[in-house]
This record gives sequence, structure tokens and C-alpha cells, in this order.
Amino acid sequence: MKTEIIVIGAGVCGLTAACLLKRAGFRVEIVEARNRVGGRILTLQNPLKGDPVELGAELVHGLPEETRRWLDPEKDLEAREGDFLIFEGGQLTQSPAYFEQISGVMERLSQITQHDLSFQDWLEQQTDYSAQLKDWVTGYIQGYHGADASDISGAALREIERESQEVDAVEGAQFFRGGQSRLLDRLIRELNQPILLNHVVKKVSWSQQGAEVSFTDSSIQPIQAKKILVTVPIGVLQAPSQSPGAIDFEPPLPSEFASALSFFKMGTALKMNFVFKSSPWSRDSKNSHFAMILDTTPGAYFRVWWRRGKNQIVGWQGGPSTLLTLTQSEVQKNALEQLARIFKTSEKELERELQGSYVFNWSDDPFSRGVYPYIRVGGLGATQTLARPIGNVLYFAGDATCLGAYLGTINGAMISATNAAQFIVR
Ligand SMILES: Cc1cc2nc3c(=O)[nH]c(=O)nc-3n(C[C@H](O)[C@H](O)[C@H](O)COP(=O)(O)OP(=O)(O)OC[C@H]3O[C@@H](n4cnc5c(N)ncnc54)[C@H](O)[C@@H]3O)c2cc1C
Repeated sequence: MKTEIIVIGAGVCGLTAACLLKRAGFRVEIVEARNRVGGRILTLQNPLKGDPVELGAELVHGLPEETRRWLDPEKDLEAREGDFLIFEGGQLTQSPAYFEQISGVMERLSQITQHDLSFQDWLEQQTDYSAQLKDWVTGYIQGYHGADASDISGAALREIERESQEVDAVEGAQFFRGGQSRLLDRLIRELNQPILLNHVVKKVSWSQQGAEVSFTDSSIQPIQAKKILVTVPIGVLQAPSQSPGAIDFEPPLPSEFASALSFFKMGTALKMNFVFKSSPWSRDSKNSHFAMILDTTPGAYFRVWWRRGKNQIVGWQGGPSTLLTLTQSEVQKNALEQLARIFKTSEKELERELQGSYVFNWSDDPFSRGVYPYIRVGGLGATQTLARPIGNVLYFAGDATCLGAYLGTINGAMISATNAAQFIVR
């Protein structure tokens, strides 16, 4: 088979780029390894007749033009309602001091102007901070970026923080009403063509004249095209040859691309969604109306919990953690113990109220290999290198090819899709 452009990956980036390229009049073929579209967007619609359950991406962090054109903010976005609480010393409290202090630390990152260093090394130099503040802020960085604080670039964090403030990407984050899959539905409707599912790309052979994509299933015929747009996660591009999902490039990608790639790492996180029959927190009238709870207890099981709708609560633990090695029932048991402490109830009561629990291990999945990327020390310019076309034949896009507040987000993936489509059209 021959086409003009092959898009590898039917996540939000690949789907957006394919729509834009089709609009520009190109013939596009989309190949996808999994038996579904969406990649790291995985919405369970209404599993228990309640709000959708998001196993992957959940919040819309800010609203750049590239995303806005696919949605109506009034109709599609839903603010997170309620207070931001802290669970500290066995009590739930409203603690503006916590958030103010974290913001203060983030602002001070702007002082990194010379040599890049890891967030942890930078934090150790801040001798006026208390041990508690250092612990809080390390938990914040690891949680939000899914990163190891001793590995993540301080200079990249400075850029991310600066832009996040400008676009209100953290506190202003909103839910997609009806679930993120609504966005995918919209893209698929516009695309209006079959997507080649269960097509695991194994090799891309390329030259200045064009490229050929072949698949792990040898019964699938290779596809030739003039241009290839690769939108697989950074973890897949880094995967050793022959491992599941890994893609070989022939000839190999230029050394500056390989070097830029080494400055990224897929972050890790565990997200657990609990749906209850009624809201176990509503008995505590003072604290029932919360949007998010941060458990600052040292060694807290999930550091962050947020509420969705009336009866759903989501636990999030980002960064290096032993949680990922546990079974779902072990995680569930410990998480319910933690929630019982927070809401001053019993584990048994919570078990009685529990309707369902949902979790997905993105690190174990060969087609994601983690949750989202972060930039390692020295890697500040690496996103631009990855996004640069190679020989006007190979193009790369996805949530790692966009710096600032949008790195590792749906917005980042959509911005990079738009940029890559513009490169190709030009
Ligand atoms: C648990 C979790 C929570 C998150 N929370 C948020 C959030 O709240 N807000 C937010 O904005 N973002 C969030 N993200 C990040 C967000 O999901 C991603 O940034 C975004 O979905 C990336 O889209 P993408 O198209 O670039 O990549 P992907 O969605 O990963 O799409 C890439 C596609 O390539 C396919 N693929 C991989 N290998 C091959 C191969 N060899 N051959 C063919 N196809 C292949 C994959 O199957 C996949 O469909 C979260 C992610 C996770 C996992």
C-alpha cells in the first residue's frame, strides 16, 4: 500500500495531526499498535452510572489556542469545585500556608540562571528552608511531574513554572465534561476514515525520497509513504531494539536526535479511582466540600486525593514509589486504610460503600512505558531538537516535543501536532 503520510500512533497527538493534514488535502494513513485509539487517554464511560472514570489523562491544564479550537470551554469544561485541604497531624485543615510556601519555592526557581542542576541539588542549596518545607516541595515536584527529584532539570522546571503561572495550568485545571474520550470522539468524527488498529510498527526504513513502515505481525504488508509522522511516547522511542513496541529506524536517527532523546525520561505514577455508593466524606460537614486533599504525613500512601462528582475519589502517587510493584488488591487495601484515617471512618465502612475501583499500570504497558515525560538535567533545548524534521521525511510530535506548562500534557500533544502538521504542509 502507498499513501502520502503515515501517522504512527492514534493518541490525541496523532489524531489531531491527521485531522489537520487531511484538512490540508493530504492522504493520511494512521497506524496504531493497540486495539483502541486514545493512547494515554483512557476513559471508562459511566461504568457505574456516575461520572466517567479516567484511567489516564483527566484534567485540562490551561487552554492554548491549539486545544481551544477543538472544544467549547463553556460546554466542555467543568471547574473543580471545593476546597484544597491538607491532611496533617491527623486533621483535615484548610492550609493556605502550604500553598503559599510551595509557590514561594517555585518562584525562587527563577534564580537558576547559570548551570543546570537537579531539583534536589538546587533544594539542598536553599539553606533557609526547613526540613518540612523541603519534604513538602519534593513531594509536590515528584507528584506533579512523576519525576525523580534527583534527576529532573531545575532549569526546565523554571520554564515550566513560569509558563504554568501565566496560563494558570495548575490551580486552573479543569475536568473535561463527560470525559476526555469526548475529545477523541470529536477528532475521530472529523477524521472520518478507518484507523489501522493492532498495527505494531517494528521498523521505519527511510531515505530522502520517502519511507516504508513495517510491522511486528509479518502478515501485515509494509506501507510506503512520502512522509512519516511519529507520535509514539518518548519511552517507546527509547525502548531497546527488539523489546515489545520498540521501533528500529534504518538508517539510524541522527546522533543529535539520539542525544536529545537521552535527556528525557518517562515519569511514573499510580492513579487509583474509587467509586462509592454515597460519599463517605459527606458526614463531616466542615470538610465534605473538597476538591483536593494533600496528605503531608511522611510516608503517606497516596500523597494526593481529588474528588470527581459526588462519589468518586482519585488517589495519585507520582515519582519513584514502591506502589507500582504491588497488586491491585494490596494497593486498594492500603488506600482504603488511608481514606478511613482521613475521613475518620472505618475501613469496613468504606468497603461496604465501595462500588468499584479502577487502576491501570502505565509503566508496565509497552506502548506507553510511563505516564508522561520529564526533562533531565542539561536537557532544556532537547524538545526543539526532537521536533525538528529530519530530511523532510521524518517528523516527530507528541507530549515531549513541547516545553513549558504543556510538556507532558494533552495540550502539549495538541500543540506539537499542530506544529508538525504546519511543518509538513510547508
Ligand atoms: C495516568 C495519567 C494521567 C495523566 N493526567 C493528565 C492530565 O490530567 N492532564 C493532561 O493534560 N495530561 C495528562 N496525562 C498525559 C497525557 O495523557 C499525555 O500527555 C497525552 O495523552 C499524550 O498524547 P500523545 O498522543 O502524545 O501520546 P499517546 O497518547 O501515548 O499516543 C501515542 C500512541 O502511539 C501508540 N504506539 C506506541 N508504540 C507504537 C508502535 N510501536 N506502533 C504503533 N503505535 C504505537 C500508542 O499505543 C498510543 O496510542 C496523563 C497521563 C497518564 C498516563
